[in-house]
Amino acid sequence: MANRFGIFALAAGTLFSSFTLPVLADSDLVNVYSARKEALIKPLLDKFEAETNIVVNLVTGNADALLKRLQIEGSASPADVFITVDAGRLQRAKDASVLQPITSKTLDAAIPAHLRDTDRQWYGLSQRARTIFYAKDKVDPAQLSTYEDLADPKWKGKICSRSSNNVYNQSLVAAMLEANGTEQTENWAKGFVKNFAKPPAGGDTDQLRAVNAGVCELTLANTYYFGRLANSSKDADKQLVNNVGVFWANQDDRGTHVNVSGAGVTKASKNKENAIKLIEFLTSPESQKWYAEVNSEYPVVAGSDVSSVLRDFGDFKADTVELSKLGENNRAAVELMDRAGWK
Ligand code: FE
Repeated sequence: MANRFGIFALAAGTLFSSFTLPVLADSDLVNVYSARKEALIKPLLDKFEAETNIVVNLVTGNADALLKRLQIEGSASPADVFITVDAGRLQRAKDASVLQPITSKTLDAAIPAHLRDTDRQWYGLSQRARTIFYAKDKVDPAQLSTYEDLADPKWKGKICSRSSNNVYNQSLVAAMLEANGTEQTENWAKGFVKNFAKPPAGGDTDQLRAVNAGVCELTLANTYYFGRLANSSKDADKQLVNNVGVFWANQDDRGTHVNVSGAGVTKASKNKENAIKLIEFLTSPESQKWYAEVNSEYPVVAGSDVSSVLRDFGDFKADTVELSKLGENNRAAVELMDRAGWK
């Protein structure tokens, strides 16, 4: 994968430039570093390529590794667009000075202000909610209400949780810091940790499986993990989806915590116009629908279609806290979780 840009650069810059035949000039390219798995982005990039004749070179990898790579490459980076998940990570990219502000009336009009960076360095492209999932045979949803309530001793030994080194939980805590302040959030985290059925381990799907297996009664997970299980043809997954319920947290106050996958134009971009065009394409109605259908994510553009799986989850009120705050509060959230003993 690492060599792909090298090969394209050679093809475009050296090999073809001496011919008069149509060539791939720089203006016909856009280079993408994506922390999203290839299956969750490539088909959209292929469509973009077909519609615009702009060749998309894709490098996929681990989010933190790609960010590090952008930093090391600096102004020599071939990347034009950085795609990653979670506002916390998008903010890290901004803080690392690997992104640049862009001007796009299309993006400003399509994406609600709280789902993009205030300095226009990154834009949310799809939304995921992080909410409460419960064992239907053990928990009456009438007992559930808010994230805050999960620190109540009535849930002692009943909660499974992913570890605190995961950015999804860090962003949830960052949102709670914004809503409730440090003292209240720290007390909450301490109570929440006391309610764990076992030490944190595994990803969101592992937590959902643990709820289904009776290891615990409740967990927090991103909605698309449950959506993937709902789309699965495996009996075990179907059974899980039957046994585990979705509960929308905090409907009577600020709303359920949501986060985004998003993208920004790199500071080193040599194909800035194409980079902006690509991000705009990802907010088109057909792209927005695709996120819902393929990965059970919610669109960022109001009025876009959602899949039948998402319709089954029901409507909910989402927290509209500015997602850039999640990045700003990330360090404080990590330190707070550490003090609370959240492993
Ligand atoms: Fe995920």
